[in-house]
Amino acid sequence: MQVSNSNSSENYFDAVLIGGGLMSSTLAVLLNELDPELRLLMVERLDSPALESSAAVNNAGTGHAANCELNYTPVGPDGNIKPQKALEINNAFEQSLEFWASLTEMGKIAPTKFLNVVPHISFVWGESDICFLKERFQKLTEFPAFSEMEWSNDFGELADWMPLVMNGRSFGQPVAATRIKRGTDIDFGALTNEYLHSLQLNGGLKLKLSTEVLGLAKDNQENWRIELKDEHSINHVYSPFVFLGAGGGALSLLQKSGISEAFQYGGFPVSGQWLVCSNSELTEQHHAKVYGKAKIGAPPMSVPHLDSRWINGKRSLLFGPFAGFSTKFLKKGSGWDLFKSINSKNLASMLQVGVKNIDLIKYLFDQLQLDHEDRLQSLRKFLPQAKNNDWELSIAGQRVQIIKKTPKGGVLQMGTEVVTASDGSLAALLGASPGASTAVTIMLQVLQRCWGEKMASEDYRKRLEQLLPSFGQDLGADSSSLSKTRKRSNSLLNLL
Ligand SMILES: Cc1cc2nc3c(=O)[nH]c(=O)nc-3n(C[C@H](O)[C@H](O)[C@H](O)COP(=O)(O)OP(=O)(O)OC[C@H]3O[C@@H](n4cnc5c(N)ncnc54)[C@H](O)[C@@H]3O)c2cc1C
Repeated sequence: MQVSNSNSSENYFDAVLIGGGLMSSTLAVLLNELDPELRLLMVERLDSPALESSAAVNNAGTGHAANCELNYTPVGPDGNIKPQKALEINNAFEQSLEFWASLTEMGKIAPTKFLNVVPHISFVWGESDICFLKERFQKLTEFPAFSEMEWSNDFGELADWMPLVMNGRSFGQPVAATRIKRGTDIDFGALTNEYLHSLQLNGGLKLKLSTEVLGLAKDNQENWRIELKDEHSINHVYSPFVFLGAGGGALSLLQKSGISEAFQYGGFPVSGQWLVCSNSELTEQHHAKVYGKAKIGAPPMSVPHLDSRWINGKRSLLFGPFAGFSTKFLKKGSGWDLFKSINSKNLASMLQVGVKNIDLIKYLFDQLQLDHEDRLQSLRKFLPQAKNNDWELSIAGQRVQIIKKTPKGGVLQMGTEVVTASDGSLAALLGASPGASTAVTIMLQVLQRCWGEKMASEDYRKRLEQLLPSFGQDLGADSSSLSKTRKRSNSLLNLL
């Protein structure tokens, strides 16, 4: 293999984005919109972008707006439902919609390629869960963001909302649901490709495929020296800013960067599995994302849901996720990933998390014992008449849950976390949910933390306001700007 040490100007970039998934692509579009002159490089180890978590088959494709995901409204120690997280996620998703609307208006992306409108329903049974759902409904509808939420415990009405779910259900069973019609299914893989296509057309991004980043180090005060390996050679590129958008690969690159912030983190992989319906008649009869309530001890990403999906333009019906276990941090990664990520600095936190999360370990262990019939039993709680032969198992993407060292010991974090170097020269994205749906807000956070001076400039601010007309406004608190923003997004994205 040839090793090249050339540091000619063509190997220098204003930003190097590692990983060709949705996160790096979102950041690339934002940077290009803010300053079209920037020299951007994206490096992807596989031969196409968006083949890991961002691929439609590897995630649930829910445009997370907290319309139906009950884990976003936890019950506080005082017994009351906490709406804060739901409001934050709803705001962030509205920002994603606004971003897509602007790019659509500019003719840079086509929403028909990645976005479908589908009602978001929360569905529960049993008195205590119905009580929870009713309280959640009452609490959320106090806010403009959720004022269009509908409630029903009427069998006939629910059969109208989701016929397959009610078909074959015993009439006396107490059930209830809420619905928001303005829900979405997103093919995040197709969206990534839309972004990259538009950047390639305008020459805003150099994309290196089949190229793996082996490591990175600061070569002087100014630049990161990033080591790349492709089929033929090992060479280096240089940049004052690096984004580690490598999904499950981000933790290991963060550790290799040597920044002191990296040592607080470890990771624990959880893989997902779906049941996919092979009966197209059934698929056509369901038109909703129906989210239930997670079992005690189940991680939030295991909330069961029955989803209408559009994958590569083809309609499908999917139920899950079921948890699986693999020591890989990427679906196309190595079985050594977990072991290589453990070091003397994160071992104690990882052990503490194991001890504190016995419920989670038991849940994962139980999931690993499931066979096809067991999975069908779970599905029948949603689709009472589901038949074994209509459903096949499919393997989803890997999620690497963050384990963080805190003054109170190791903590398992379920959300997404942006880690930045103190000098702003590097940012890494760890974790998963709500992930892709809130990518625009997360990448704006990256830019505020790492490109603070430029973001404060008149020029960047003006461009941001063109791209995101509601930038700087609190949509959750300001109902008139929320309704103006929604009206614009609805019309440009053909939402309702
Ligand atoms: C089962 C499951 C269900 C989900 N459901 C939803 C959902 O319903 N809604 C939602 O909003 N989000 C969902 N998510 C989360 C969402 O998929 C992720 O937040 C999002 O795809 C992450 O994008 P990314 O670009 O960070 O990572 P990825 O798409 O994984 O991209 C990372 C890329 O980096 C590359 N890479 C890794 N290491 C290197 C290296 N050393 N050198 C070069 N390239 C490298 C990888 O090959 C990969 O292409 C789900 C995730 C999973 C796993």
